[in-house]
Amino acid sequence: MRLLLVEDDRPLSRVLVRGLAEEGHAVDAAFTVAEADESLSINDYDLIVLDLGLPDGDGMTLCQEIRAGGSQIPILMLTARDDVLDRVGGLDAGADDYLTKPFAYPELAARVRALLRRPSNAMSPILQSGDLALDPAAHTVLRGEVMVPLTPREFSLLEYLMRRMGEVCPREELLEHVWDAHYDGLSNVVDVHVANLRRKLDVPGETNPVETVRGVGYRIVDA
Ligand code: CA
Repeated sequence: MRLLLVEDDRPLSRVLVRGLAEEGHAVDAAFTVAEADESLSINDYDLIVLDLGLPDGDGMTLCQEIRAGGSQIPILMLTARDDVLDRVGGLDAGADDYLTKPFAYPELAARVRALLRRPSNAMSPILQSGDLALDPAAHTVLRGEVMVPLTPREFSLLEYLMRRMGEVCPREELLEHVWDAHYDGLSNVVDVHVANLRRKLDVPGETNPVETVRGVGYRIVDA
């Protein structure tokens, strides 16, 4: 999933970006409200981690603006103090959850997973297509009864495709959501990862769940 982290504490930002990237997320870091606004105007994010105190404004106002624009994107707010007014204010401003500093990274990771599991379209947290099942919470993929070992990036790619089940996802969209804004590596990185994913999911004699739509992108069949 593609995340925007808005946090002006650079050492903390680095730690969070590294941790979330290790879990397979594409993370863009913004250090000011202005940078966050710019990133939000360019990219389509799946979740925002938002600090309250920023050098050129406050996270509360930014959160209200995002909601005023009609966006339902999950927002996890970071508050510096365990101040009940801040927390209530944050939730009133439209945040989905909050975390009080200082916090341990695993706690943030757990909140992020919980928020990403709460998509408007899914009643069941397990994503399923035929005998392929992806559990975002447990971070596991099963083909039938067999566990499929995936790298964090492959998992993220499959999760994105399965959340868009039945839709063709163009390469550019996958690149934007599964890799980050600064990705400047091989232009065929999406194809390479999809090829690896298809190989791992392949069961002889059965149709591969990842369908190639020639010249457009990839799709998981809604089976
Ligand atoms: Ca701050």
